[in-house]
Amino acid sequence: MSKVRVRFAPSPTGGLHLGGVRTVLYNYLFAKNKGGEFIVRIEDTDQTRFVPGAEQYIFDCLKWCGIEPDESPVHGGAYGPYRQSERKEQGIYKQYAEQLLQNGQAYYAFDTPEELDKMRNDFKTAENPSPQYDQHVRMKMKNSLSLTEAETKALLDAGTKNVVRIKMPEHEVVQFTDMIRGDIQNETNLVDDKVLLKADGMPTYHLAVVVDDYLMKITHAFRGEEWLPSAPVHVLLWKYLFGLDNMPQWAHLPLILGPSGKLSKRDGAKYGFPVFAMNWTDPKTNELTEGFKEKGFLPEAFINLLALLGWNAGTEQELFTKAALIELFSIDRVHSGGAKFDYEKAKWFNQEWIKKLPIKNYELIIKNEFAAKGISITDDAAFEKVLELVKDRCTLLPDFYTQAVFFFKTPEQLDIEAVKPKWNSDKAAFFSSWIEKLQTLTAWDFATIEESFKALATEKNIKPGELQLPFRIMLVGGKFGPPVFEIAATIGKEETVKRITNALSQF
Ligand code: GLU
Repeated sequence: MSKVRVRFAPSPTGGLHLGGVRTVLYNYLFAKNKGGEFIVRIEDTDQTRFVPGAEQYIFDCLKWCGIEPDESPVHGGAYGPYRQSERKEQGIYKQYAEQLLQNGQAYYAFDTPEELDKMRNDFKTAENPSPQYDQHVRMKMKNSLSLTEAETKALLDAGTKNVVRIKMPEHEVVQFTDMIRGDIQNETNLVDDKVLLKADGMPTYHLAVVVDDYLMKITHAFRGEEWLPSAPVHVLLWKYLFGLDNMPQWAHLPLILGPSGKLSKRDGAKYGFPVFAMNWTDPKTNELTEGFKEKGFLPEAFINLLALLGWNAGTEQELFTKAALIELFSIDRVHSGGAKFDYEKAKWFNQEWIKKLPIKNYELIIKNEFAAKGISITDDAAFEKVLELVKDRCTLLPDFYTQAVFFFKTPEQLDIEAVKPKWNSDKAAFFSSWIEKLQTLTAWDFATIEESFKALATEKNIKPGELQLPFRIMLVGGKFGPPVFEIAATIGKEETVKRITNALSQF
């Protein structure tokens, strides 16, 4: 078999949705599992939907996910250009459209937008509320099938605006085998005569995808199931232009489902979870859609959770490195049903990856967050120790700030309400005496501090357990954090005494 070459073919129209990243990922995992190549081709033929910045954003997302293309407009390669707009400039698509025209497999259509509207209106019936441009209406429209050769020539010579449409055959069945769904059959009389070449000379997606997949020697193509209805058009174009034996094997991936049907940007806003890989600001509306990266997800967790949205390894295992995913990925284990996105589960993946990865991998992100909040970290080793202490309590990266800030800054507010109900003069006296004892300690570590605390509690006849919560509130400000003697050992004697003294004046 020839070398496996797969492509991700995004249109630069906006942010990269979870489903889009999963498509990239499955393409990539499949290619790498087979020792093949992963190509990114930018499908920017629809100028009306072009959004500045969207292409760069796609590459930034891939980089963050650790998915490096072998060929792309940025990485180069032997099958360029990798942007369809640049391929159009070379006239690549036009010649294939002409070949189809000559063979009677496509035709010129001269209908104006008004005429198309009229057709949609005139042919509307109860059974067919939105008629399409197809074999039932084509002979009643203005095109090279309904006009004489001379009429067509006259219109073309006069430079009349036209598009090229595929002529769908009548009553044929177009068949192909989808890698996920198996045998797929479509009746040609149900499919419209799709536009292949637009009036501006740009190919539509339908023509471009076939021509480019052929010229780029693509062997397998994974794309969203929304493309399934157009697949018969692509199969026919393959048959007409390049022969079905050269056609890539298709895999149409199921939708990712949100709380109410197809996962949408709106779901994210409504339920407070990200749906894009990274933050995306729409340049037209300035609307910001939150990304997994900025929400505090690790890329390792993100690709792991995406891989499992529609695929499993056939075991109970859920945590996989990218290398393991590459090794284990197989198309037979991709489900054809929609995969439900569960944000709680997504967070679980992140929490597991926070625990699993060395702190060094994400330390800088947290350090920057501290800096942004006015705390500059100077001692990296001490910082790492603190992060290590709190990491089991963090689900998203910003949790580190909340869980660790009190190691670097005296808490501004103490949860006095948590202490008050059981606070009394004996406890106040305990802490006053303990401060004096602490001053005399020569060692300052977890065990020494704890021992001194317990010894004095026994002497004063107070259960140490009853003193631990007030002590925690004194050091942390709230009812959370790692073992309290560990905190005291880390922040130092002077700071511990200062915090106890300060709290005693408030309780
Ligand atoms: N440009 C298409 C999209 O963005 C790609 C579909 C395909 O992979 O063939 O959905």
